[in-house]
Amino acid sequence: MSRQIVTDPKTGEKRCRCFKRCGGCQLDESYAEQLSRKQQKAERMLGRYAKVGSIIPMDSPYNYRCKVQTMYGLDGSKRIISGVYQSNSRKLVAVDDCMLEAPAAAPIVQTLKKLMKDMRIAPYDIQSGRGVLRHTLMRTSFTTGQIMLVLVTASPVLPAKNNLVKALLKAHPDITTIVHNICPEGMPLTLGERSITLYGDGYIEDILCGCRFRISPDSFYQVNPVQTEKLYTCAVKAAEIGKGTKVIDAYCGTGTIGIICAKNGAQVTGVELNRSACRDAAANAKLNKLDGIRFYNDDAGKFMQETAKRGESCDVLIMDPPRAGATREFIDCACTLAPKKIVYVSCKIETLERDLKLFTRGGYRAEYIQPVDMFPHTTGIETVVCLRRIEKADDKPEKNYLRPRRGDRKK
Ligand code: SAH
Repeated sequence: MSRQIVTDPKTGEKRCRCFKRCGGCQLDESYAEQLSRKQQKAERMLGRYAKVGSIIPMDSPYNYRCKVQTMYGLDGSKRIISGVYQSNSRKLVAVDDCMLEAPAAAPIVQTLKKLMKDMRIAPYDIQSGRGVLRHTLMRTSFTTGQIMLVLVTASPVLPAKNNLVKALLKAHPDITTIVHNICPEGMPLTLGERSITLYGDGYIEDILCGCRFRISPDSFYQVNPVQTEKLYTCAVKAAEIGKGTKVIDAYCGTGTIGIICAKNGAQVTGVELNRSACRDAAANAKLNKLDGIRFYNDDAGKFMQETAKRGESCDVLIMDPPRAGATREFIDCACTLAPKKIVYVSCKIETLERDLKLFTRGGYRAEYIQPVDMFPHTTGIETVVCLRRIEKADDKPEKNYLRPRRGDRKK
């Protein structure tokens, strides 16, 4: 189907002709070169903290994105096109196929464009504020085969709604749920507060590390489930869970890592800011028949502060913050709680490096560092760091580590 993606007959490696215009891929080189580039960067940035293990590669580094977002617009001849916004501009680049996305996504987008034309559903134009469909979000599960399609419109009116759903399901019976999300304003690709389920359950389920997870439209879920299993396996191994180990899963999303720890006997408390993800986390605990887990819908820094104030403690802190990393408040309180181990799962090496500096001053030593290639063809590096509290009397943390030093970031 695709003329955009070219496969090298000798190596089987793929290249995309849209590389420069699209911006979805950032590295246009062989997979071996990508891995070596990431390994070198991880060693350069983190090597002084501990030994950096060899990056865990993906066996087949294509079609891994289980979350696909697509924008719609009109070309010069007023034909409906779909694709992505060019980086740093408002120009829509037509992309009909993508070597990173789940294979199920592109055919559904093609059908939707045809139906939009037939049913006169115009793409929404941000500049003029006219039109209907802002974008679509698709989530697919490679393990259960479930597919969720979210149609995001600017106004609550979605013309020919019932016929659209019927026609979509007829063409793609593998779609398990369709949701209408209303997003009157905001940046492209954001979701609005209101969602109406038009078909199915309004969420999909996926299986990771033997546990089942429900995922709602606006909950965070790792985009590469194949590598996520490897990432979580590293994180849970680093946590050294035994029966009754007290674990805090901070920035827990839909509860994934905490639930896997609980399955291994841990006593888990999770904290997550996004309400929908937190609701999913509670549902996921039930889905996996686990009673003892509590999930708090709160800011992780505030939660840690309150936990420290109450004088509570935990054996292991697992933290998986967004790209911005953890706040100073979070790190200070984590050091006050003084768990024996901290497992830091990071999706941005620059903020990880910054935060490791503070943990090191706060009484922790990195035991090992394990990069995992979660985002092939992009520059992103995911890393698990296993930190242990220093206990020897002559190896105490520096005094006054909580006081900012010159060069530290200010929050
Ligand atoms: N551990 C989860 C989620 C990691 S992504 C997983 O592997 O799926 C980071 C998560 O942190 C997101 O779910 C995001 O909603 C949440 N988050 C962002 N800022 C936060 C904050 N200040 N306090 C708590 N959670 C936050």
